[in-house]
Amino acid sequence: MELDKIVQEIQNCEICKVGKSGKAVAGEGNSDADIVFIGEAPGKQEAVSGRPFIGRSGQMLRGFIREIGLDDIKDVFITSPVKYLPNGKDGTPGGTPTSSDIAHGRIHLMSQFEVIKPKIVVLLGRVAAEGVLQKKVFVVKEHGQVIADTDGIKYFLTYHPAAVLRFPGKYKTSMQEDFQKVKNLLGDI
Ligand code: URA
Repeated sequence: MELDKIVQEIQNCEICKVGKSGKAVAGEGNSDADIVFIGEAPGKQEAVSGRPFIGRSGQMLRGFIREIGLDDIKDVFITSPVKYLPNGKDGTPGGTPTSSDIAHGRIHLMSQFEVIKPKIVVLLGRVAAEGVLQKKVFVVKEHGQVIADTDGIKYFLTYHPAAVLRFPGKYKTSMQEDFQKVKNLLGDI
């Protein structure tokens, strides 16, 4: 399987591991999915297990995916531009990815896209948009729409579930509405 080869590349990638901790988190799901969800970087729980989005943010994301009638493993692929847990400034696990982390992770992510050939890519927040489209976005203003449509792939922007966990009153309904739009987009392909 071609995706397994990319997993091995990520596991052996010394550039990926600079300033990071834990296991490689390459992504999981259906290698033939029409829809791919892109986050930011693994968190602590993901870095222990090697699986993406299994912590609190992940439970929320997977719940939203199921709410629109999709199975969070069989119908989708879930991954992030950054494949390892970034360290903070003090060197301990749990920081935010740097621009060079995002730019490097993109190389592996693009290889994954070449195999999966998704029709819809859901960008969960600013880092996802930067990692995939190399573009700065203002999520609060631009979410809920296709922000790029190139080579047969629609790139839809929504919030990162961590933002919803932090400010549920502000973003939860809005993110659920965005997912209904994703469902409609899927119905159109
Ligand atoms: N947040 C992400 O962006 N990715 C994960 O895998 C987990 C949390």
